[in-house]
Amino acid sequence: MTQSIAHAGVSLPQEGTRRQNGQEALSIRGFLETSFVDWPGKVVSVLFLPGCNFRCPFCHNHQLVLNPGGLEDIPRTYIMARLAELKGWVDGVCISGGEPTIHPHLLSLIAEIKGSGLLIKLDTNGSHPDVLRSLIARDLVDCVAMDVKAPLDEVSYARAAGVPVDLENIRESICLLKKGKVDYHFRTTIVPALHKGEDLLHIARHLSGSSSLTLQNFNPEDPLDPRLQGTSPYPEEWLQEMRERIASILHH
Ligand code: SF4
Repeated sequence: MTQSIAHAGVSLPQEGTRRQNGQEALSIRGFLETSFVDWPGKVVSVLFLPGCNFRCPFCHNHQLVLNPGGLEDIPRTYIMARLAELKGWVDGVCISGGEPTIHPHLLSLIAEIKGSGLLIKLDTNGSHPDVLRSLIARDLVDCVAMDVKAPLDEVSYARAAGVPVDLENIRESICLLKKGKVDYHFRTTIVPALHKGEDLLHIARHLSGSSSLTLQNFNPEDPLDPRLQGTSPYPEEWLQEMRERIASILHH
C-alpha cells in the first residue's frame, strides 16, 4: 500500500541545503524517509512525484495530482544526501506519486538511486508500458506495484480513472509484468459506487496466472471527487470473501 502524502510526515530540507542545479529538472514534491508499509517486508523511503494523467475520483493524493505547485519542491541533491545517510537502515526507495512514468527524467533519477545500492519499487497506473519496459530491460527496478482500476472495458475504466484511458497500454503493462522478470503486485482500490463484485471477478480473470491482486478498501476521507466523501466503503467481511474468490481465480 502506498501512503497518502497528507499522512506521510514529509521531510523537508533545512534552509541552505536547497540548492538548484541541472540534476533537479525532475521535481520531487514529497519525501517520506521511512515507511514499513509501502513495500511489504522491506523498510523504504518514499518519493512522491507530482502530476498524473488520471483523475481517479477516489484518489487520496489529489494535491499531488491537481495542485502540486502547493507542495514544497525538494531538491534532488538533498534527497540523495539523505538517502546516503539512511543506507543500512532502509532497503530501498519506493517511487510514487502522482504517476511517476509521466516524467521524462524518471530513468535518470532511478538510475542515480539504484547506483547508490538501494532497491527500487515503482508505483504506477500502467499507462506507460514503454517506460516500464525500459526500466525492466535496464535492470533499474526491483518491484512494480500496478493499479488495475476496473474491468478492462472502456466505460468501466474511464469511470474509475476519471478520464478516457488507452486500454492497450494497460494490457501491455499487465503482460510485461506477468512475464515475471521483476517482482510485481497488482492492486485495485474498491469503491462501492464504481465496483460491484462481478467487476472484481472480471479483473481477476484478466489477471489469471498473476502472483497477486491486492484489494484495497476505499478511504472516504478527502477523496479527489468530493461526492465520494463520507460514502461507506464495503464491509471488511465482504472484501475478505472477495479476496478468497479472487485468489482461487488467479491461481486456477
Ligand atoms: S492514478 Fe489515480 S489514484 Fe493514482 S495518483 Fe493518479 S489520480 Fe491518483
